[in-house]
Amino acid sequence: MDVSMKRRTLLKVIVLGDSGVGKTSLMNRYVYNKFSEQYKPTIGADFITKELLIDDKLVTLQIWDTAGQERFQSLGSAFYRGADCCILVYDINVHRSFETLQHWHDEFLKQADPTDPDIFPFVLLGNKIDIDGGSSRMVSDKKAREWCASRGNIPYFETSAKEDHNVDEAFLAAAKTALTNE
Ligand code: GDP
Ligand code: MG
Repeated sequence: MDVSMKRRTLLKVIVLGDSGVGKTSLMNRYVYNKFSEQYKPTIGADFITKELLIDDKLVTLQIWDTAGQERFQSLGSAFYRGADCCILVYDINVHRSFETLQHWHDEFLKQADPTDPDIFPFVLLGNKIDIDGGSSRMVSDKKAREWCASRGNIPYFETSAKEDHNVDEAFLAAAKTALTNE
């Protein structure tokens, strides 16, 4: 069958976490295969899309980014509305960004108000594993995995947007968990 004949599934994925952890960079790496060292806290669009085939199913991932408002104000209900998956991101070299994950997790559930919060699909990314070859790490892999295990076995990936490590895998996992929740 022609790909264009297939039923399309639209999945809304939102990316949350402290400012500077690499949310925009991970999305840009995933969708455009680009990386910039420059820090640009704002982008123009609310979301970017990527098409992918999962088990013969055509999926449009609509990936929503913050425009830097995570630093000082709430994100607004349109950002959260209808989300199918929430990707939480922290920087493994900044302990504070790990501590605030609970806030982002709770804020998501409060704002998006999913039907069954206990099984809502989250994915956690520990980003910037390339820095100093991992020697400036402040959060162990084990600690991150424990955090995930105690919240309904959230899938965990350690990533580098800069070196393109585990980025495709992480977004694919997000899309797959979102599909199971459809
Ligand atoms: P956001 O505020 O969460 O969207 O973070 P950005 O994507 O804007 O990234 C903040 C800064 O971290 C930028 O200077 C990026 O170049 C840098 N950055 C993002 N991801 C990585 C990474 O995986 N490795 C390294 N070394 N730097 C990164
Ligand atoms: Mg950003």
